[in-house]
Amino acid sequence: MSLLRKLLWLIIVGIVMMQMPLLAARAQESDSGDGPVFIRDAEIENYLHELAAPIYTAAGIDPQSVTIVIVQSSVVNAFVAEGMNEFFYTGLLQLTDSPEQLAGVIAHETGHIADGHLIRGKEEMRNASAEAILGMILAVAAGAASGDGGLAAGGMAGGAQIAERSYLGFSRSVEASADAAGMSFLDKAGISTRGMLEFFKKLEGQEMLPADRQVEYVQTHPLTEDRIAAVQQHLDNSPPSLRNARLPQKFYDMHARMKAKLLGYLQPDIALLRYSAADTSIPARYARAIALYRTGKPDASIALLDGLIAQKPDDPFFYEMKAQVQFDDGRIDAAIPNYAKANALLPDSALLRQEYGHALLESNDTTGMGARIDLAITQLLESNRLEGREPETWRFLAEAWGRKGDLTSDPQYTALASYALAEEAAAQGHDAAASQLAARAMKGLPPNSPYWLRAQDIKLSLAPPGGQGRKKNNNGP
Ligand SMILES: [Zn+2]
Repeated sequence: MSLLRKLLWLIIVGIVMMQMPLLAARAQESDSGDGPVFIRDAEIENYLHELAAPIYTAAGIDPQSVTIVIVQSSVVNAFVAEGMNEFFYTGLLQLTDSPEQLAGVIAHETGHIADGHLIRGKEEMRNASAEAILGMILAVAAGAASGDGGLAAGGMAGGAQIAERSYLGFSRSVEASADAAGMSFLDKAGISTRGMLEFFKKLEGQEMLPADRQVEYVQTHPLTEDRIAAVQQHLDNSPPSLRNARLPQKFYDMHARMKAKLLGYLQPDIALLRYSAADTSIPARYARAIALYRTGKPDASIALLDGLIAQKPDDPFFYEMKAQVQFDDGRIDAAIPNYAKANALLPDSALLRQEYGHALLESNDTTGMGARIDLAITQLLESNRLEGREPETWRFLAEAWGRKGDLTSDPQYTALASYALAEEAAAQGHDAAASQLAARAMKGLPPNSPYWLRAQDIKLSLAPPGGQGRKKNNNGP
């Protein structure tokens, strides 16, 4: 099927993107290269949020208000953009060696947020999803590349990539200021700045390379000897208890698993070489299990996952992984109890709820179908309550309500299905379609009921201002 979780969204970047609704399509593996590909993965997001939370809190930012977005790209970069969106490229995640190093990157990015160095765009960016925002940013960068103004670097690399660097890049003084803020957050959170220093040193020397060969992070966050010296000095002046502080072991375990998972997914052949069968550590077996699944060996993968589950029976992500292998292998009814178990162990994960709900819908077992659809609806609604970011959840909900309508012959469920499709279209930026679907939903729902009101909101806010849509509508903003 698709990468990490069947939930990769491809933003098709168009030249007039800033004026047009964004088109989002489910990314297939062959699509990578056409635009940014986003990875949704409950485990990695959970780790990043847990690692970042004390840093956000130290900065006076509610951790819940930050959306962390993982971009599948070998490019080494991270940045923040409007709306408290923090983007991490898999290339950067894979380059960090420890949770402290990654915490250093997060602290620096949070320094940009605290200093107000957000990448700002037009009004429409303000309410767009994080995924859509990155699409817009890259579109602006591509537009800048097609002109030639302001580009510092030429060379062999694609103009768009270099333009992206210029567009996302900050000045050296701004960088130093973000470092200083970041270091104060790390101090407050009790995390040593050692990791920040280590990561900067890792990137040192990159600036000697021609611009097109540099690690992108160095381009967008110019690194200087002064900056490194300032972090070194801060570390040297820290009290020993802070200087030598080590994050709890669980973060090291999560970090190792993140790296194992990313390599197993993104480069399974390399993962199978790097994590040998002789290595019985949890990350090694996890990486191999994922790599085996990704290379078409589900049974070998499940055997390894069963071993991991036996060793750590309270770990939700081993059940989730096993369920995914089974699901993608067509064993839906075997996957369902594993999704249920993962959900029971981590009830606050919107992604796990969505996967569980989806699996319940895909079952071919006709016995107990009504109860299964009801359970799917419950899971999908809860997923949406926990996080309203995934258009796909609305599509599954539309399917669930549609099937409930078929089973019960109650037309209200058919109207609810239209409402869910309207939400999906709205989340994807398909405004005209969303408005029409919302109008259809309103006809079948009790006036002034909660979903009727929500459908009305969509209809009123997204109706085309006239001429743009298929039919004229005077309700536009
Ligand atoms: Zn920076």
